[in-house]
Amino acid sequence: MASRGGWFKVRVGIGLVVLAGVGVQYLRVRRAEAWRPDWRERLDVTVLLLHGPLQDDAARSVIERVQRDAAVGDDRPTFPALEDWFARERARYGGPPPVKLHLTRPLEVPDLPPAPPAAGEELSFRERYRRTHAFLDWFAAQRARVPTRKGATVFVLFVPVPDLPRIASQHSVADRRSRSGFVFAPLTEQGADHALIDAAHELLHLFGATDKYEGDRCVFPHGFVEPFAEPRFPQRFAEVMAQGIPQAQGGREQGVRYFESMRVGVETAWEVGWVDQARRDRYYGGDVSAEPAW
Ligand SMILES: [Zn+2]
Repeated sequence: MASRGGWFKVRVGIGLVVLAGVGVQYLRVRRAEAWRPDWRERLDVTVLLLHGPLQDDAARSVIERVQRDAAVGDDRPTFPALEDWFARERARYGGPPPVKLHLTRPLEVPDLPPAPPAAGEELSFRERYRRTHAFLDWFAAQRARVPTRKGATVFVLFVPVPDLPRIASQHSVADRRSRSGFVFAPLTEQGADHALIDAAHELLHLFGATDKYEGDRCVFPHGFVEPFAEPRFPQRFAEVMAQGIPQAQGGREQGVRYFESMRVGVETAWEVGWVDQARRDRYYGGDVSAEPAW
């Protein structure tokens, strides 16, 4: 009897250890997914530019342009200007520059990454896991080719126009667990402008911000930069997590062409930890003293 009891205890013991292991793993994943930078210091963000073969000067100039030194408001948007944009947006909420973008040398890639599972796609757990990992592993292999820093990483993959149909359904995504954002853009001048818009959006996802659009509409009030403006329409700016400039009640929204027309709204600022909940609540309660500076 005693030995049977002992065996049972051992079995229960093993069961508990396994459960505890699963629990620890679960908590670790949850914690990794809830990560938010400590804004007292600037966060290092590695920007990894990836591209297919550069067949002509136009393609080469797209890659060269996005790396050029520039500030917000300069002629063509670049990654250094995007760093400046983050600093300006944070300053409106009364904080120091939040991110330092480190551009690596552009890397040519021989092929496109395997497609990750799409939202709403019906897949078994196993298949979803396999496809997600194949996608992440492809990018990890690129990251291993250049020195990177602790912090976060944004992969910006420029795709030649003929290859576009293969990634047309691939939206830019963020993976908080690996602190990585993945941006896909056509290798054109306009594609470069969009890569910068998407890089800002995916970085803020990494920091904990949620989308603020439904279908092709900006959600009111959180998807509006100036929800209490009189008159409310047209809005002047696009909220970075909504990505449209509302023009008229129920009417079409203006798309965003350059990241300079985007601003970080109060809800997003609260989600990423730039303002506290009390200020956010006061703001949406109509207290003008809680407004960010301009
Ligand atoms: Zn999004």
